[in-house]
Amino acid sequence: MLSVSFNNSRRIKMYTPQNPISGLLRLCIGRPITFIFLFVPVIVGLLLSRNFDSGTVATIQHTANVYQQEICGAIPISYAFDDGYESVYDKAFPILQKLNKEHDLNITATSYVITGKVGTEGHMTLIQLIELYNNGWEIGSHTVTHPELVDIDDKQLQKEIADSKKWLEVEGFEVFTIASPYGLYDERVVDVMKQHYYGNRTTELGLNDIPLKNPTEDLYRLKTVFFEGDMTLEEIKAWVDKAFAEGKFLIISFHRVDDIHKVEGEAKLYTTDIEEFEELTRYVLSKAQNYNIGCTDSMPTDLPPLPLK
Ligand SMILES: [Zn+2]
Repeated sequence: MLSVSFNNSRRIKMYTPQNPISGLLRLCIGRPITFIFLFVPVIVGLLLSRNFDSGTVATIQHTANVYQQEICGAIPISYAFDDGYESVYDKAFPILQKLNKEHDLNITATSYVITGKVGTEGHMTLIQLIELYNNGWEIGSHTVTHPELVDIDDKQLQKEIADSKKWLEVEGFEVFTIASPYGLYDERVVDVMKQHYYGNRTTELGLNDIPLKNPTEDLYRLKTVFFEGDMTLEEIKAWVDKAFAEGKFLIISFHRVDDIHKVEGEAKLYTTDIEEFEELTRYVLSKAQNYNIGCTDSMPTDLPPLPLK
């Protein structure tokens, strides 16, 4: 049987840009001196403090470990935030950090960023992404420009899928998974993804088997449940119950997290209420109390070459 093992994030002790010095210099160029004195030590501190414990709520990269392994009691639930909105950093991240402190855990999540939008209005900056990453988050690709991948030509497809990864890698992130914009993919799209990633999160509704029945294919068709729009808190809790009851892997996806009463127009459809986000996470943790959180720490660390065979 194929053994797909994912890099155990506990082993990634430091944020390691391909060229950390030039990366920092680039951050400093053109910045006021106060920026350099205030932020560079913060960044260096973050670089040195990258330290993880896996939890029941972990990154898709991290929980992907369990596909081929004994699940040793922990039911994995991953949070994925699409498009790299600022509210992920401003609203969701502080809540997870608060709960981590309360429960002495390290809940992490995956942020799927549109690399062409990093630092633009309403989206997270590179520095914010680095902070998430250094707190154990996975930074995954959501392509360069968020096109409908099934409708673009081969050359463009290659660019969207490969260049977004390359961009993230140059900035120092290790990249494992991608999420196809609008959940759109076909065999041609999957074939290109297989050259560059260990998984693709789609928007297909459902739970994922542990282990996956056909990993080399199923990893590129990971199902999810979006907690936004019409999905109520009770309904998403029922999905959590189902994952625990059936021993399956649940990826809960989001776009923005905010006070829903302050959001207007179409954005409301893609916003999860901040109080409900916290309540959901507390619910997941209460469900997980009887499980051995953290047992995925001993997972193997060798990554097989791509494409997976
Ligand atoms: Zn998207």
